[in-house]
Amino acid sequence: MDKITLRKFPYPYQAAMTISNDIDGTSLSNFIEIHRFLNTNESTSLGEGLGLPISDSFWMYDNPILENSAFSYFEKLGSTPSNAAPLIRDFIKAGILDVMHSYGNFVAISDFSRKMAAHAINELDRYNLKVKVWTNHGGIESIQNIGNRSWGKGDLPTHEGNGTAAHLDCYHSDLLIDYGIRFYWDSVESLTSLVGQDAPVHFSEAYWRSPLYSGFKLKTKSIIKGYISFADLLHFKFTKRHFVPWQPFDAQNQLIQFDQLRDGNILLRFKRFGHNKLDWSDDLDFLLNEKVLNHLIKKSGYLVLYIHLGNVKSRQESTCLPVMTINKLRQIAELYHQGKLWVQTASRLLMYNFVHHSIKWKAEETDANYQIHLVGFHQAVFNLHLSLEDLGGLTFIAPADKEVLIFFNDRAVATEVVLDKNTSRQFVMIPIPEIKWPL
Ligand SMILES: [Zn+2]
Repeated sequence: MDKITLRKFPYPYQAAMTISNDIDGTSLSNFIEIHRFLNTNESTSLGEGLGLPISDSFWMYDNPILENSAFSYFEKLGSTPSNAAPLIRDFIKAGILDVMHSYGNFVAISDFSRKMAAHAINELDRYNLKVKVWTNHGGIESIQNIGNRSWGKGDLPTHEGNGTAAHLDCYHSDLLIDYGIRFYWDSVESLTSLVGQDAPVHFSEAYWRSPLYSGFKLKTKSIIKGYISFADLLHFKFTKRHFVPWQPFDAQNQLIQFDQLRDGNILLRFKRFGHNKLDWSDDLDFLLNEKVLNHLIKKSGYLVLYIHLGNVKSRQESTCLPVMTINKLRQIAELYHQGKLWVQTASRLLMYNFVHHSIKWKAEETDANYQIHLVGFHQAVFNLHLSLEDLGGLTFIAPADKEVLIFFNDRAVATEVVLDKNTSRQFVMIPIPEIKWPL
């Protein structure tokens, strides 16, 4: 029935964004202070709280003597829960810690083993803490990393007779998938300079028109890169092979894509927007500059920002975030509270994107109402059991003359309705659960 349509974003937002923060270099006290500012409306050392549903990542293992160490669930590389463990559990329950930034901060291949992966996952499972998103980056020492574009071997089965690195004990992606990880980000190769995913894109936006390349040197470099990439696309047309050492131009510009790991398992790989040399807290203001934000909203795209909020270049400031970063976050909050930019936690935003693309629904009209039935997924390949919470934000547009009922698993679900008298339409949304500050 074409009287009813599914809106791209929850009403009334025009675009969507999350800050996908890597926890590197963030102490526990800074983490709490930053999130008190981001998530609550309390008065904090960084100013009045912003009330934003922004989440963060965490580590299960970490070595406190390292320069970029953060806090971790277990003490160092051992199996004893640290003093931070109860807090980490509370923040995972609250949905504020919702990304495993790999298992931990390891500096040597020998720091990690399958046993440690199993121990970490069992511990999360024991407390029924479900995390759906995984991110990893780093060099050759990060053997735990998964995805064939990363340096890691965490998704390479290493059983006897396999021939591939049988002496290594780092295979664990089967455990991750059994546990419930569904989305992953593999490496800086999955960084994009395109503003706004799941929106139409022009070739030049990846290069000389990208807002990430400012200044003569970077602009020139991006023009050269653009020409070579263009040649690469032509080459690909005839040979079906790319020759550029960087990510080829991606005209599809999707936020998430099905990806097969080297053990055959399927995950959803997502893109993050950013730059591998501009990923400090101090870079936030530039990464989300006026051009970027205007472009994102105008294009109605998605943006998942790659950043390390806790890594501050100049530690001279008295607060744990630079003033420019605080001001930029304030601007993001304004756009959110004005109903222009939908800000959500990383896992909710990714889940919303997946559900929005793949949900199958049908609508019918009775004398008394419109009935919308959510009946399943287009992509059955993916083993995903949805809860009502995962459907939060889905917004249908319907004529305003009758009540709208939405059914999930044959039950009518609670909805929020906004009437638009000017157009005689109504926006009917499945409510988005609120983030509850756990302290
Ligand atoms: Zn990191």
